[in-house]
Amino acid sequence: MSEASIKSEAFKGLRLTNTLTRTKEDFVPIDPQNVRMYVCGPTVYDFAHIGNARPAIVFDVLFRLLRHAYGASHVTYVRNLTDLDDKINARALRDFPDLPLNEAIRRVTEKTANQYQADVKALGCLEPTVEPRATEFVQPRADGRADMITLILSLIERGHAYEAEGEVLFDTGSMADYGQLSKRNLDEQQAGARVEVEAHKKNAGDFVLWKASSPEEPGWESPWGRGRPGWHIECSAMASAYLGEVFDIHGGGLDLIFPHHENEIAQSRCAHGTEVMANYWMHNGFLQVEGQKMSKSLGNFYSIHELLETETFGGRKWPGEVLRLAMLMTHYREPIDFSVRKLEEAENTLRKWKRAADSAGRAEGQVPEALVAALSDDLATATAFHGLSQLAGDAGGNVEAAASLKAALLFLGFTLEAAEVDETEVAATIARRLELINAKNWAEADRIRDELLAQGVQLKDGKDPVTGERVTTWEVKR
Ligand SMILES: [Zn+2]
Repeated sequence: MSEASIKSEAFKGLRLTNTLTRTKEDFVPIDPQNVRMYVCGPTVYDFAHIGNARPAIVFDVLFRLLRHAYGASHVTYVRNLTDLDDKINARALRDFPDLPLNEAIRRVTEKTANQYQADVKALGCLEPTVEPRATEFVQPRADGRADMITLILSLIERGHAYEAEGEVLFDTGSMADYGQLSKRNLDEQQAGARVEVEAHKKNAGDFVLWKASSPEEPGWESPWGRGRPGWHIECSAMASAYLGEVFDIHGGGLDLIFPHHENEIAQSRCAHGTEVMANYWMHNGFLQVEGQKMSKSLGNFYSIHELLETETFGGRKWPGEVLRLAMLMTHYREPIDFSVRKLEEAENTLRKWKRAADSAGRAEGQVPEALVAALSDDLATATAFHGLSQLAGDAGGNVEAAASLKAALLFLGFTLEAAEVDETEVAATIARRLELINAKNWAEADRIRDELLAQGVQLKDGKDPVTGERVTTWEVKR
């Protein structure tokens, strides 16, 4: 693709696959002056795993695209931190029994929350507009923003929730079209329920909005006594606190469709009496590691922090932007197989792009329209990256192409710093190549030479003037 053809494609608006309708739709914001998006964040009990990195990266790309299309000050992106969790609560009570509960929880989650923020920053993600913590939205707030207790009260008032045995439950039978997102039919679900309906529930699918705490369990005061909220109500509260009763985009992982997102919708719609909670529901696909489901028992469970800072995956540390590119090489809705090979591929690609972009020198370019067009088609990253590779191919001696590539890399959240060359590694590779040459394995020796060249390392074979032995020197070619 030449520079001319890249410039020829104009921004034609955004199309997104909506899980609510299972179709790709034109994106029409409720208010183009304030495009609003909510994405479910991680539970900050443990360090975030690489599965958590996927929605952070995917929706960061969407955030950047929305800012590009509507203006940076016209997009509000809320990504919460879930610090409401029985395990967190228990530890807060154990470790800080004398502190007020919210403060004790903050102490317990401080390290993991800070680590998450550092992790996603290393992955090239912009900070969301707001990053609310669930604990701050349990009880009515001084600033009058939505909170969980007030939401539950209005659900009871409107006949969508009831108290039973120390719990407040959402009455799924009170909502005619419950199950729209996951396409689960309530009647079928109840008829086929494998578990008997618990005695205090009106319907098998009824879920907890509030749960009483025993004296030794942590809890917040509420109209139903001391207790704690259910999981789903927190996102309903934080979303409406910052985005209003109805907003544009709600995102998260595929695994959240049911029950979490289904129940968020039920709560928000029934509490506010609205037709929808968000107009577009977007879900990223699952993540596997080296072909297997990531699990602690399989020993293939990696935190983002481990990949960035330790040598546990593939025997080396990985730059955040390599993880970012690897994650985006697969379309966000497809399952992704995270592997060392994929990371190596991403690293090579990124190196080539950066080298090509570097030839722009100080010249500034525009974000290529073809890139914006590809991303605008339901975040077609593969098409976008194909265009970048072509641009990189054109960049030799073409400052304009190089400058466009530079702008594209920054737009996508990559830096322009060239990857550092690990001198020890190069020396080891040269030694290995020398052994191959001595063994007359020319093909493999050439392959290694080319591979190094792709990384920007050019080898020069010569002879030692004194001993006459073969010597290989190298230089970084940019
Ligand atoms: Zn959520």
